[in-house]
Amino acid sequence: MKIIHYPHPTLRYKSKPVTRVNQELKEIVREMFQLMYQARGIGLAANQVDLPLQLFVLNISGNPEEGEERVFINPVISAPKGQAEAEEGCLSLPEVEGTVLRPEKIHVSAFDLSGTEIDETVDGLLARAIQHEFDHLNGVLFIDRISESVKRNIDGQLYEFENHFNALVKSGEIPSVDANNKRLAEIEAKFCS
Ligand code: ZN
Repeated sequence: MKIIHYPHPTLRYKSKPVTRVNQELKEIVREMFQLMYQARGIGLAANQVDLPLQLFVLNISGNPEEGEERVFINPVISAPKGQAEAEEGCLSLPEVEGTVLRPEKIHVSAFDLSGTEIDETVDGLLARAIQHEFDHLNGVLFIDRISESVKRNIDGQLYEFENHFNALVKSGEIPSVDANNKRLAEIEAKFCS
């Protein structure tokens, strides 16, 4: 398992609800936390490790020794309130940063890994991180939510990611979109049916 980068097609895939939490899924979650900490992130969505599942992990301290490790399965966001602007980055777009305007406060419901219901109103960094990861599950990236002027500043970086990706497709290191969809469907059959 590894973190995939923009513009990999799985990052644009709409993830499916998880219906089966088994030992294999628990191991996937464990590995997602490890990859997130290694990359110095505070959140990681399943799409980012090439899995089409409605699931993300968070530890807003970014430190395995601190904070709280949270797992959100089949999350739903509601009741957005207020607005807040802050700089965001993404493990699928290393070194790219941009200011994103988001609701300041949200309600989130989901399940954790033990099947316990999550039902919380959150704000601040936690609310921002949950919205960023939730977006991933719908195939949305933070660069879709930045202003045109900020976008112009990072266009060169995005172009480099696209060039690199095209070279990987050409060399066969990244499968074709059809082959990728077939693989995602197999994973869905395992965890979402
Ligand atoms: Zn991200």
